[in-house]
Amino acid sequence: MYQASNNRYDKMLYRRVGNSGLELSVLGLGLWHNFGSVDSFENQKSIVHEAFDLGITYFDLANNYGPVPGSAEKNFGRIISEDMKPYRDEMIIASKAGYDMWPGPYGNWGSKKSIIASADQSLKRLGIDYIDIFYSHRPDPKTPFEETTLALDQLVREGKALYIGISNYNGEQTKKICEIFEDLKTPFIIEQPRYNMFNRQAEQDLFPILKEKHKAAVGFSSLSQGLLTEKYLNGIPKNSRADKASSPFLQEKQVKATIETVKKLNHIAAVRQQSLAEMALAWNLRIPEIACVLIGASRPEQLLDNIKALDNLTFSDYELLEIDRVLAK
Ligand code: NDP
Repeated sequence: MYQASNNRYDKMLYRRVGNSGLELSVLGLGLWHNFGSVDSFENQKSIVHEAFDLGITYFDLANNYGPVPGSAEKNFGRIISEDMKPYRDEMIIASKAGYDMWPGPYGNWGSKKSIIASADQSLKRLGIDYIDIFYSHRPDPKTPFEETTLALDQLVREGKALYIGISNYNGEQTKKICEIFEDLKTPFIIEQPRYNMFNRQAEQDLFPILKEKHKAAVGFSSLSQGLLTEKYLNGIPKNSRADKASSPFLQEKQVKATIETVKKLNHIAAVRQQSLAEMALAWNLRIPEIACVLIGASRPEQLLDNIKALDNLTFSDYELLEIDRVLAK
């Protein structure tokens, strides 16, 4: 039987989510990959246990994570029920609705029908009474924001979710929906954008709005799916994300297109006496609006590496300029 480490809160840092009452661990575990029905359940368990032992409190899921869609929630629910029930109140479990989940017109996007049905399904798969943060996974261009907002607000009022988030909304969309949430007094607290050294759009567009509205961000693909690690420096290892057919979102061509930049970044990291992954995570966390950076992991050891990022979170102006210079090329 799993017994959580007594030292689990010693090293991790926690940041407040905007002006809400909630704090998140600055590193969160993402279950997009490696938690499907195609993946080893024992390995999944070890990753979740390691994360919790390291003080990670935030676990990020979505209805469609797998493959097959839904299986990451099912597997995570099994881990909770087998091993982690005593720790439920120490965990923030997030899920989302919006990408393709079931056939027909109600299985995706942001209608009230889709959001309510999807949240009910997620609760059943996870086997929990409520979801801590429930997200609209992407803005729906055809549904009025008022409808999506009211559906999310209803989840809170029915006790199915504690807090609300949105993901993949740009700055303008975030501002618009935030104002509707303000009218409803919905506990909308967080936006989840892609943010890493190779994807800096949110700096121009989203972070200023979050600052203005006293909200926070949780960044996804913080290591650019593994590109911002030492993993691909000498080619594409077997069973890495770029190698696996079950993960079509990272291809050999992306590895090839970024490798020269990655080598230069790796050099800057070495001078800082950090691994590239550690530096990339620390660099994301320099943004004050970011409460948490999500990391995926295919093995528990990767989490042990990544938490070392917390040993050096400061950057000199020179280092920041050097990184900007390398990324600009
Ligand atoms: P990352 O950018 O953190 O990439 C994770 C991958 O990087 C791992 O699977 C592993 O790859 C590799 N890796 C991690 N640590 C190390 C290390 N120390 N050394 C070497 N390789 C390492 O994250 P994801 O792209 O998985 O995104 C994280 C989470 O963000 C997702 O799980 C999900 O929760 C969320 N997300 C949200 C989206 C949204 O639309 N809201 C979209 C995408 C993600 P390998 O498997 O090759 O070992």
